[in-house]
Amino acid sequence: MADFFIGGEWVGAASGGTREIRCPADGSLVATVDEGTREDTERAIAAARAAFDDGAWSSTPSWQRGDLLLRVADLLDRDRDAFARAESLDTGKRLVESEYDMADIAACFRYYGKLAGQDAGRVVDTGDADSVSRIVHEPVGVCGLITPWNYPLLQTAWKVAPALAAGNTFVLKPSELTPHTAILLMRILTEAGLPAGVGNLVLGAGAAAGAPLAEHPDVDLVSFTGGLGTGKVIAASAAATVKKVALELGGKNPNVVFADADFETAVDYALTAIFLHSGQVCSAGSRLIVQQEIHDAFVDEVVRRAELIRLGGPFDPEAETGPLISAAHREKVERYVATALAEGAVLRTGGRRPDDEKLADGFYYLPTVLDGVAQGSTAVREESFGPVLTVETFTDEDDAVRIANDTHYGLAGAVFTSDASRAQRVAGRLRHGTVWINDFHPYLPQAEWGGFKQSGFGRELGPTGLAEYQEVKHIYQNLRPAPQRWFSGGS
Ligand code: NAD
Repeated sequence: MADFFIGGEWVGAASGGTREIRCPADGSLVATVDEGTREDTERAIAAARAAFDDGAWSSTPSWQRGDLLLRVADLLDRDRDAFARAESLDTGKRLVESEYDMADIAACFRYYGKLAGQDAGRVVDTGDADSVSRIVHEPVGVCGLITPWNYPLLQTAWKVAPALAAGNTFVLKPSELTPHTAILLMRILTEAGLPAGVGNLVLGAGAAAGAPLAEHPDVDLVSFTGGLGTGKVIAASAAATVKKVALELGGKNPNVVFADADFETAVDYALTAIFLHSGQVCSAGSRLIVQQEIHDAFVDEVVRRAELIRLGGPFDPEAETGPLISAAHREKVERYVATALAEGAVLRTGGRRPDDEKLADGFYYLPTVLDGVAQGSTAVREESFGPVLTVETFTDEDDAVRIANDTHYGLAGAVFTSDASRAQRVAGRLRHGTVWINDFHPYLPQAEWGGFKQSGFGRELGPTGLAEYQEVKHIYQNLRPAPQRWFSGGS
């Protein structure tokens, strides 16, 4: 086996270790891949360092780097089916969802491919004809990129595309549970002409293969998407070498529904918000915050429709959502629900595994609605990252904003109302990095994504997503150099 891509070569794990990847929908073996350790990651860091220091990639004109990303986008389109299938086997998500993701992934590479050639820095007015001054953007250097399992290639694209556009080299460490589309991506980057050593891939568990990316002095930047606890560990490790750090962490995202919202539309989006990919979405609308006068009718309808959601594997044409990623993750969701019930939540539906025999080998969990959760309770504070919707009730606009902001997370939120000025007012007051109005979940490669508060810092996507991977340098030139005579000695 040779699943790591280091210095332009496919190589195996130094220790000879392997890991079985199993499809969460039925436990079937997808493949056995190499399992890396610190030694493999350090080799990859050395390769990325050497490729950065030889300067060939960082001094390639930015429009040529952009051309390479555009070729990658075309190759992703060409191989869409193989990528989508690999993603669905690793994650258990419906094939159609992986296909949607592929369109977003290619769009991300296209966006940064076009943006790359447009960055000429800027000239600064010195107020003096005898000097010139300009600001240039340069790559940060070697980037450690660590990604999660829920949108494996999409999260990777949000890092790899801007890192390459800016002229960096990188070591990618995807989630140990979902490695296959990262392997396919490295093949495509090579086919598109990426020089050896610029892009490197290692696989393996976080503490072994991922940690060196935060710790090693030869890594200049670490960009991490994953859980809050891991993000804290990575930020603390990176502090020892004062690395640049970008953290895209979890969310406890409010979905605020006013009584004047279009009822059917708001119910429909409330379901998509939380049950898409069985809630394994960082921006999942896990907190329904609904105005008192429509609470009963609204929750009844959400429950009715949640009970109709069909569960199934990636290639089941009837399925509307899939399994959780692992047995351990399902147990975490089960513990979360048990705690919520112990703290007084009212179980309206779900709260258990499905009875269907056909689903017995997968890690399925029924769409779940918990009403009457108390402010400050575990259920409204902690991320379940599963198909579990909690319901809170508000009286007026101030109350809605107060409840929606009462979380240490700040990733995304939504407001449903037919009053346009109220929508804008509430959007302005929500302390979350993205606010959707009468919608939920749209991402645009040209619009920044990232968190307030403990959802992280730094931004992905948009021009800021490129700036994250750039150093800013000021170059000042004196055009008429002559002794300055600041000090009198010797003159
Ligand atoms: P996780 O934190 O367990 O793992 C994420 C990645 O970090 C994996 O590649 C893992 O191997 C690695 N890792 C773990 N420990 C590490 C360590 N000590 N050093 C270096 N790397 C380490 O998260 P997960 O369970 O894979 O993903 C789910 C979480 O990700 C959720 O909390 C979700 O909200 C969050 N997420 C956030 C966004 C966003 O854009 N903000 C997007 C997707 C997922």
